[in-house]
Amino acid sequence: MRDTNEMEVIFDSCSSNEGFARVAVASFMTQLNPTVEEVADVKTAVSEAVTNSIIHGYEQEIHKISVKCRIDKGVFMVTVKDTGKGIEDVEQAMMPMYTTKPELDRSGMGFAFMEAFMDKVEVESVPGEGTTVRMEKTIGKGRSLWTTQSL
Ligand code: ATP
Ligand code: MG
Repeated sequence: MRDTNEMEVIFDSCSSNEGFARVAVASFMTQLNPTVEEVADVKTAVSEAVTNSIIHGYEQEIHKISVKCRIDKGVFMVTVKDTGKGIEDVEQAMMPMYTTKPELDRSGMGFAFMEAFMDKVEVESVPGEGTTVRMEKTIGKGRSLWTTQSL
């Protein structure tokens, strides 16, 4: 297998596409031979980021969301991007239980989940221009440990 590979999907910001984005990403990452748990972690993180673009970025209006994936050796990188309203204070937004939409029953845990399930999460946002969430996860950590120990 080649060491690097990339894909991008661009879709409308309707909630019926949340499932599509999760499955598209999960399907692309299967070439890394991930565990069920690794796939579930990435799917959850992607769902949270895509839901944020739909609910907060575009506030339910229909515009485009881009999800890009890149494989570089065993590292899986995924970028979720919207050109919506952006975030004024990223550090505050990323704090667990911080939400600007408590009336919609949001719990403010989306970024906390992304950080828990991925190795690295970076958010770049410009108010009025949009938000890009970059996430990374090394796939196959457990397996390489097992191989090393068994040698
Ligand atoms: P939950 O994810 O638990 O349903 P939440 O979406 O409010 O609640 P987070 O996902 O942690 O919580 O996001 C925190 C806050 O960051 C949001 O309330 C919102 O104000 C802001 N935010 C997150 N993503 C975006 C985005 N793509 N565009 C604009 N604002 C965003
Ligand atoms: Mg959220």
